[in-house]
Amino acid sequence: MITRFAPSPTGLLHLGHAFSALTAWDMARAEGGVFLLRIEDIDGPRCRPEFEHAIDDDLHWLGLDWPVPVMRQSERLPAYGDALARLAEMGLTYPCSCTRADIRAALAAPQEGASGPDGPPYPGTCRGRAMASHRPGDAIRLDIARAVAVTGPVRFEESGPGRAGRQAYRPDEMVANIGDVVLARKDIATSYHLSVVVDDAAQGITQVVRGEDLFAATPLHVLLQRLLEMPTPRYHHHRLIRDETGKRLAKRDDARAIRAYREAGATVASLRAMLGL
Ligand code: GLU
Repeated sequence: MITRFAPSPTGLLHLGHAFSALTAWDMARAEGGVFLLRIEDIDGPRCRPEFEHAIDDDLHWLGLDWPVPVMRQSERLPAYGDALARLAEMGLTYPCSCTRADIRAALAAPQEGASGPDGPPYPGTCRGRAMASHRPGDAIRLDIARAVAVTGPVRFEESGPGRAGRQAYRPDEMVANIGDVVLARKDIATSYHLSVVVDDAAQGITQVVRGEDLFAATPLHVLLQRLLEMPTPRYHHHRLIRDETGKRLAKRDDARAIRAYREAGATVASLRAMLGL
């Protein structure tokens, strides 16, 4: 069993991250598995070395350790490029020059709740453009209808609360709910979805542990695994830690930073108790 914690160094880790990392660590411990750290630093200037040092320091304080060197996404662009080229060769991608405003305007009646892993499914304006027409500044999208025609239904095993069991998605559900997501952004030749799939396979991850906010992205990740002939790990999407108003914690919420609790004299045991672990 190999699992991972994959933070982005764009802020201090907060209680929600502590819960995620400790849940993954405890599952690895219980099964005699391995816990890996991966730094998801494709967001250019938002990623800062001081936040990466703080991640190391806070996780060690929590009692976690992991093999080094850690995988860093900023060093993996060639691997993402290979995966993208493979999907392009299969005829499953197209370039897209739409701005956010273009997309909003093209979505005739955006419905409440009709939201895929990256927001409302893309309306398809650039679908059908040839990859040869790609210009600097274009994003690259997945043609989801063509992709699901290759794979058929996707399935994965989930062990998170509420949804435990085998999950299965029909091609028409994937087309309606996911849409033509961006695989490579305008500013960097990859995306969260592509990177996470390529890296989980490269690291031999057999058990993904992460927040339930990413549950909606999982059918897409499994679809990409199928297209790229990569194994599908088991998934565990845990509950989110919320503040007293019910809002999920955000990076800028420094009052809930692990660091703030440390400075106020918390122990790992008191933090675990607070998180219900
Ligand atoms: N880097 C992502 C985050 O900070 C986590 C990705 C994942 O666990 O799949 O939310």
